[in-house]
Amino acid sequence: MRAVRLVQIGKPLQSIEIPIPEIGPSDVLIRVAAAGICHSDAHYRGGISEIDHLPLTLGHEIAGRVEGVGRDVTRLSAGDRVCVHYLVHCGSCEFCVRGLEQFCRRGQMIGKHRDGGYAEFIKVPGANAFPLPDEISFEAGAIMMCSSATALHALNKARFKAGESIAIFGFGGLGFSALQLGRAFDCGDIYVVEINPAKLASAASMGALAIDARSADPVEQIKNATAGKGVDVALELIGSAKTMRQAVLCLGALGRAALVGLTAESMSIHPYTELINKEAEIISVSDHLATELPALIEFARSGKLRFPPETLRVVDLDSSQINTALDAVQDSIDHVRTVIVPSK
Ligand SMILES: [Zn+2]
Ligand SMILES: [Zn+2]
Repeated sequence: MRAVRLVQIGKPLQSIEIPIPEIGPSDVLIRVAAAGICHSDAHYRGGISEIDHLPLTLGHEIAGRVEGVGRDVTRLSAGDRVCVHYLVHCGSCEFCVRGLEQFCRRGQMIGKHRDGGYAEFIKVPGANAFPLPDEISFEAGAIMMCSSATALHALNKARFKAGESIAIFGFGGLGFSALQLGRAFDCGDIYVVEINPAKLASAASMGALAIDARSADPVEQIKNATAGKGVDVALELIGSAKTMRQAVLCLGALGRAALVGLTAESMSIHPYTELINKEAEIISVSDHLATELPALIEFARSGKLRFPPETLRVVDLDSSQINTALDAVQDSIDHVRTVIVPSK
């Protein structure tokens, strides 16, 4: 089969012919119909994030059709449409038995610790393949398993409830999904804080109150818009100490700030006036859980979570097209996601 693989850190991915993986009793073999090209793939290629071994087939956002199943897999059969949960876990450790597989000590991420979806076929444990309803395209099924799943996890970790107001800091892929999921949960007012005019316009067109952080302090703007009350939930999706602090400061009484963006910077908080006084909480968010995916898939099936065609760009399973897309993913300013759709 064809696979596009990382052979050397810092070098372009290469198209290589490798054998179709052999499945074990609990595995399924999937013919890849769509594989999303993610920011983190560019980090693996560039050596910014470490991978497990070389050569490695990248790609953790995957949807396709089941080609074959191991003898212990009863839930799925050949021809089924599926999307893939990228965290492979042991299922028996102290964390896995509590449904917290993101902390599994033997956990492996597809496309980082084991071969991913930039290929014609992929082998995954049957437990990692989730049925993909006909209403959801393979392309949407692939990309929602990363940023949308994490946006949902952030709302869940923040204990977000219907009617609550929300401030979203950063309107990239995560924010795009978080806004739609907030609305799917019947949220109150949604504020989107951005500096990019196109993103602000896009957020406004999707029903958010756009807060232009270039024009004035976003915390002041949110306080003014809420008659001084602040918001119930703030999601920080950028990864900057400045916006993390703003996410905390825009909270009202009993508000929760969920930090999703990554940074090594320090953040300062005045505990008494900025947290304790209003019993506000800072909550950290990492990845997502298998148990959250059925709800995510249902939001997409019912059209509450959408990826319109203009937000998707398709490339072939071709190393030069994929390398060009990885070059571009770093400085993307829109919501357009690139998805690999292997030609027949
Ligand atoms: Zn991803
Ligand atoms: Zn485990």
